[in-house]
Amino acid sequence: MPKKTIADQKRKTPRKQKHSKSVVSRKNTTIPISVFDNVLKQFGEAARKLKLDPSMLEFVKMPRRSTIVNLPVQMDDGTFKMFTGYRVQHSIIRGPSKGGIRYHPGVTLDEVQALASWMTWKSAVVNIPFGGAKGGIVCDPYRLSKGELERLTRRYVADMIDIFGPDDDIPAPDVGTGPNVMAWFMDTYSMKENRSIPGVVTGKPIILGGSLGRSEATGRGVMLTTREACKYLKLDLSSATASVQGFGNVGSISAKLLHELGVKFLYVSDVNGAIYNPRGIDIPKLLKHVEKQKTIVGFPGSKKVDPEDVLHARVDILIPAALENQITADNAARVRCKLIAEGANGPVTPEADKILEKNKILVVPDILCNAGGVTVSYFEWVQNRIGYFWTEEEVNRRLEEKMVAAFKDVLDMSLNNKVSLRIGAFMLAIARVVDVVQLRGIYS
Ligand code: GLU
Repeated sequence: MPKKTIADQKRKTPRKQKHSKSVVSRKNTTIPISVFDNVLKQFGEAARKLKLDPSMLEFVKMPRRSTIVNLPVQMDDGTFKMFTGYRVQHSIIRGPSKGGIRYHPGVTLDEVQALASWMTWKSAVVNIPFGGAKGGIVCDPYRLSKGELERLTRRYVADMIDIFGPDDDIPAPDVGTGPNVMAWFMDTYSMKENRSIPGVVTGKPIILGGSLGRSEATGRGVMLTTREACKYLKLDLSSATASVQGFGNVGSISAKLLHELGVKFLYVSDVNGAIYNPRGIDIPKLLKHVEKQKTIVGFPGSKKVDPEDVLHARVDILIPAALENQITADNAARVRCKLIAEGANGPVTPEADKILEKNKILVVPDILCNAGGVTVSYFEWVQNRIGYFWTEEEVNRRLEEKMVAAFKDVLDMSLNNKVSLRIGAFMLAIARVVDVVQLRGIYS
């Protein structure tokens, strides 16, 4: 295990430490791996291949605006506590900036900048008219009451009211947030504007103007891109084995949908631990267990194993669906699957990518693999604008169309340029953003 950084030591929940590998060891010191540096490395490698105007590249690379707020929130015991909140708007070149809000004790400006940047490239990969953004609040949502969470959310929206808007910047759920946080977000924004504005946020509850299929969309996108990648690798899904790290919204839905296609999950982990069953874990039963117990741990018929085993398992498909920097230079050589489907954002570092490539492990990169969420967010925003709502079948059909097309575009780019799927995806996205800049010009 890597040594703990100060940030790790400050985290009170041991559950979080198990997932944290965000450090590199240099002699006796440890420094956090900068996630934004990772994005810059990925961008740099793709940009060099594209041979575009360096000043254009410089322009599209950096975040447009980063906002930091200090939020006073009244706790249930009457005291006030300060929380730090971020919103980074990386790009508005292709449309309003779009991206989720994360509630997690480990949130930093570096992380939010990286996640905002990935959103720009993700939206471009699936070819939807959005730029990229991300927000975050340093907090542990599982240790806050419902009332505290509501007051924290409303204060965050109120303090940044000017930068959000259905044509400006549109948040959505991410790690630690969900439909209820989006409902408070929509209500606070709407109250300030004195009318109901559902299109300011996506991932809302259905009765507030949310889209059918949105809550499953990220996992469905992971399933679809995994299916396409398996076709390319000639890997038969109905006899494939898999492991999934993280059993939140993305990990659990990906596993459920792949299980329906016949994939046998041998390992599953969540923030509390990991389980193993050589005959395959019954995913629908596990989902019921989690509904009651709030964790996968203790699932009847499974053996408790080390969470690291999930990443190093000898399976066909590995789905990291937790946090960033899980497969690093330290452990990449121990990864033994054939295919990695990045349900999470940034789970594999650029250094690890090189090792995996050498070992002929195909990585379906985050900006393609988990783009189903933002794609259906786009559909939700469109439905809010037209005021007419589609059936779930229609949403799923359109999602499949988008994901299959994006997979093909990325694969073609990667094969034509002899680069990994990640670099192919970045090349495709950067070229799409730069094309727009060339037409619009740079105002100065
Ligand atoms: N937070 C999700 C992501 O990382 C969804 C963003 C959105 O729907 O705007 O892609």
